[in-house]
Amino acid sequence: LIFEVKILGCNSASFAFGRHHTSQVVNSNQNLFLVDCGEGTQLRMIKQQIRFNRIHHIFISHLHGDHYLGLMGLIFTFHLQGRTDDLYIYGPPGLDEIISLQLRHSESVLHYRIHFQVIEHDDQLLFENEDLQIISLAMNHRIACYGFVFREKQRRFKLKRELLPETLGREELLLLKEGQNVTDSAGRVWRNEELASPPPVPRTYIYAADTRVLDGIREVAEGCNLLYHEATFTSEMQSRAEATFHSTAAEAAQFAARHHVERLILGHFSSRYQDVSPVLAEAIQYFPHTILAAEGQTYEVPARVASKQHASII
Ligand SMILES: [Zn+2]
Ligand SMILES: [Zn+2]
Repeated sequence: LIFEVKILGCNSASFAFGRHHTSQVVNSNQNLFLVDCGEGTQLRMIKQQIRFNRIHHIFISHLHGDHYLGLMGLIFTFHLQGRTDDLYIYGPPGLDEIISLQLRHSESVLHYRIHFQVIEHDDQLLFENEDLQIISLAMNHRIACYGFVFREKQRRFKLKRELLPETLGREELLLLKEGQNVTDSAGRVWRNEELASPPPVPRTYIYAADTRVLDGIREVAEGCNLLYHEATFTSEMQSRAEATFHSTAAEAAQFAARHHVERLILGHFSSRYQDVSPVLAEAIQYFPHTILAAEGQTYEVPARVASKQHASII
């Protein structure tokens, strides 16, 4: 099953050194979810060949411009392209007002419907389909800000169709799919592994937007497969990170290590860094399984490597 993240933009505050404002696309089994929509996101989408009509759900973390100023442009482009599919937008309070105000004053009546869901609190179930749930995660930023937890659902055991004896009824097949052993009509006991294979372990991707490093975060982060965490600064700028409610690379990496994350992607780089390699150098001292977000790159949410223990240097 596909479960991956494509980075469209990973810079903070202003465009710099070819890096753009925050936006990314999460692909879960060919369903696309746009996460944040900084200015220029639609151009980034065209460049990355993401078809606009595949976007039905947009998640906005907070109302700082570098995370949402591309949204109105995208909404109007959808309209001009004759979109008729409903659009679902999830964001903090006020975003619906901003959108309606712009539509009202331009006397625009869209060809399609927008459904707006306000993110009001932590741990709010925002979206669910047969593959995954998307849940809000409260950040610690200057204004209301939410990250998003993309959590795959537990799948059922897969039947080995070619091996199934005819002596099994519908009920036994359902039990097999739940991982149980069954007894057939002739009284023979079949162990589950003879007739079914276990499903993959569900994976979790967490998008942690602008935030001070999160202490006491819900256990949801524990063991998550892929964490995108902002690392606006390196430790030299510790006091600036604190003053602006951002994180340093060291803080993000320590957080990942503390929560036994499988892999960490750092982004939301400050425009002060032309070369972002110091951000990586700092992070890997604390958490070796760290990479830097690169625009246009796609990152698979990795399965957990069984029994692997991350060496934590904390
Ligand atoms: Zn930002
Ligand atoms: Zn912000």
